[in-house]
Amino acid sequence: MKIDYLIVGQGLAGSLLAWKLMARGKRILVVDRDEEITSSKVAAGLVTPLSGSRPNISPAFENRLLSAKKFYWEAEEISGARFFHHLAIIKLFRDRVESTRWSSCDLSKESPLNPYLAPLTIEPKHLHSEYGGFEMKGGGWLNVPVFLEATRQHLLERASYAIGNVNADEIEVSEKCARWRNIEATKIIFAEGWRAGGNRFFDWLEMNNALGDILEVKIPELSELTKIVNRGAWLLPLGNGRFRTGSNYRHGTSSGLPEEEGRIQISEKLETITPHPYEVIDHQCAIRPIIRRSQIFCGVHPSEEKVAFFNGLGSKGVVNGPWYADRMVAHLEDKAPLPPEADIRGNLV
Ligand SMILES: Cc1cc2nc3c(=O)[nH]c(=O)nc-3n(C[C@H](O)[C@H](O)[C@H](O)COP(=O)(O)OP(=O)(O)OC[C@H]3O[C@@H](n4cnc5c(N)ncnc54)[C@H](O)[C@@H]3O)c2cc1C
Repeated sequence: MKIDYLIVGQGLAGSLLAWKLMARGKRILVVDRDEEITSSKVAAGLVTPLSGSRPNISPAFENRLLSAKKFYWEAEEISGARFFHHLAIIKLFRDRVESTRWSSCDLSKESPLNPYLAPLTIEPKHLHSEYGGFEMKGGGWLNVPVFLEATRQHLLERASYAIGNVNADEIEVSEKCARWRNIEATKIIFAEGWRAGGNRFFDWLEMNNALGDILEVKIPELSELTKIVNRGAWLLPLGNGRFRTGSNYRHGTSSGLPEEEGRIQISEKLETITPHPYEVIDHQCAIRPIIRRSQIFCGVHPSEEKVAFFNGLGSKGVVNGPWYADRMVAHLEDKAPLPPEADIRGNLV
């Protein structure tokens, strides 16, 4: 079978590329291991316009945010599924230092922060809000598993999806194509998430993977809460008093299974958000693919023209991913330069 692109992995990264390449009319095949737990399947999918402890929003980030929303809304329209949820975020300051930083910055109508801000409207007894905060507009969350499933269905309808494990050792590369079994692709793109380190083409890239835990909890006293809460840790409402809450970064653990340590860390964080009692219903964890400082890395292999890479989406993958997928496709199809910070050719270790 001859195709334009073989995409390895249907996590967030592979899915984004698949949509963008199909929009260009390319013949693609996405092969995925169909694992029950992956970073994309566990991710909270939060879209937070103002993050970190410093009040700041760069034009570049705003651009990526707009590009992401536009992409998810269009994909919803095409697939008929609903996965992007626009939702206000209650941002609570963790301490006096954070509160002071915010009160000293320009929040006038002319400030770039202004469109994202609204006054806080919560009952103090429900959340730890002793240092104040604000409501953030323009954010929300992507239900990543629903997005992945809608993508998979879209691919299946076009005979462009297969379950399988693509072992890089089985790939034969020639001047003309990359061949895997009976498939000849003009290019093979690896979007394998944290497993990239085991791929012979990319084992020189320094992966700094980290495990992240998420709890699903029931908090009956917060059943009226319909907004996302962020106080360093976050609380995402699912309805009927159920929430997802997290997360953390755990290095040096490779089991990939939920461990007591992770559950305790998330429980302690949750207790800094609300004083109410909670019941833990579920505990999930997964390995995030992180390269260097959460930088997306993409592009064509430095010496193998038929082999490409799209990975390292990190904790803002939902927002950054669609914009970088556009750049990657323009690079592959139109030879447009990649953003220098993301181009694997310019970042050889
Ligand atoms: C607890 C937690 C919370 C998070 N919260 C957020 C958040 O709020 N917002 C945000 O933007 N990001 C968040 N993230 C990060 C987000 O999950 C990642 O940025 C993103 O999902 C990574 O997607 P990926 O496709 O690169 O990797 P993955 O999701 O790991 O997908 C890789 C896919 O490739 C398949 N695969 C791997 N190797 C092969 C092979 N050889 N052959 C075939 N298939 C293969 C895997 O089975 C998998 O399906 C969170 C992550 C975690 C763990």
